[in-house]
Amino acid sequence: MIRVSLTLLVFIYLFVFLAAVFTHWLVFNLRRRKREQETLRFRLRCVICACEFEDPSAALLPRCPRCGSLNERFRFRTL
Ligand SMILES: [Zn+2]
Repeated sequence: MIRVSLTLLVFIYLFVFLAAVFTHWLVFNLRRRKREQETLRFRLRCVICACEFEDPSAALLPRCPRCGSLNERFRFRTL
């Protein structure tokens, strides 16, 4: 039988519990960031009329569907 003091037992319990919570948070955050990047991959915002649209083509300067101006591809950082 392994003799463990109550203080050490509480410490081990808290450590394991917090490690599980931290791991769950880390995995959730990485998956959320990946989904967000996948969502914003083809999203563009027109610099003239601020219209947001998606352009999955490989065009260097995609055309805005509302005003017809050509736009550079700037990356969206967050939703
Ligand atoms: Zn536009």
